[in-house]
Amino acid sequence: MEERIGFVGLGIMGQRMAANLLRHQPINIYNRTKARGEALTALGAVWCDSPEELARASTIVLTMVSDDDALRAVVEGDRGLLKGVGKGTLIVDHSTVSASVTRDLAAKARDRGAAWADAPVTGGDIGAEKGTLTIMVGADGQDFDRVRPVLQQMGQRILHVGGVGQGQTLKLISNMVSALNLMAAAEGLQFGLHQGLAVDDMAAVMNFGSAQSFELSKVLDRYTHANFAPGFSVANRLKDLRLAVAMAETEGYPADLAACALPLYEAHDRSGFHDQDEASYVQRWDAQKGAKL
Ligand code: NAP
Repeated sequence: MEERIGFVGLGIMGQRMAANLLRHQPINIYNRTKARGEALTALGAVWCDSPEELARASTIVLTMVSDDDALRAVVEGDRGLLKGVGKGTLIVDHSTVSASVTRDLAAKARDRGAAWADAPVTGGDIGAEKGTLTIMVGADGQDFDRVRPVLQQMGQRILHVGGVGQGQTLKLISNMVSALNLMAAAEGLQFGLHQGLAVDDMAAVMNFGSAQSFELSKVLDRYTHANFAPGFSVANRLKDLRLAVAMAETEGYPADLAACALPLYEAHDRSGFHDQDEASYVQRWDAQKGAKL
């Protein structure tokens, strides 16, 4: 069967992922804010006026929206996907959301004859642009086999990690680890500067020693270039940390470090950094200068 592909959610990630799909076949697109679809329609993507209309025109529907509420809106809303899916439609959600909402929406899709795969991604806006994302998929085996060739147009490493919901579980744990890395890197960098170390010396040692991590190099680079334009926003970083802590609480797992980190990152979010890049956490100490710590 020739698949007809639809893509909902054209934010930082979705625009880039959809552009890669469009290089291989025609696609249908929808976004709440229509203007964000204009670059893709100029390249030949077909605009749909609602998720419902997009679902009617597509056999595989990919979604990439902010959070649980946004996903519920595009799936269960007035003119949502569930109104338009038919028997055999496969919904593939790339957003980072909770495993519990995922399982709930998957059951509702099943009631309408459609299937669900959760397929969150890692690799950031650059991975989305270059088509080098890692994509972790929670799905039945047959649904994974069906969607794998489509995912290979957007990612380099496509992994089947369990049934529906397990993709999100892995993604939230992975992001919990990277959040702790990010916060530790920022704290260490500012501590070093406070002690009179040069940022270049810290980078030359720490980027090649046991402290190295993706988040450490990102923090050093963003700090050096004073660039905090959002690739991955504070809002999304905080959302994922909250979801991980909530999942640990629900499951009775003592995720102690994450629980300590959460109020610190919440305070950062409240201090005017909501729409900045996640790495702006390194500015926390600048913002606090003059304030009694
Ligand atoms: P973004 O640029 O903020 O885009 C969010 C998208 O969700 C937009 O298309 C937005 O539509 C849509 N949306 C939000 N609320 C909605 C609602 N109530 N109804 C319908 N649509 C709604 O975010 P992003 O960086 O692309 O991230 C998208 C997802 O990918 C998030 O779950 C994030 O955690 C995850 N992620 C991001 C990265 C990254 O590096 N950026 C990496 C891995 C995973 P509008 O255009 O109308 O606002």
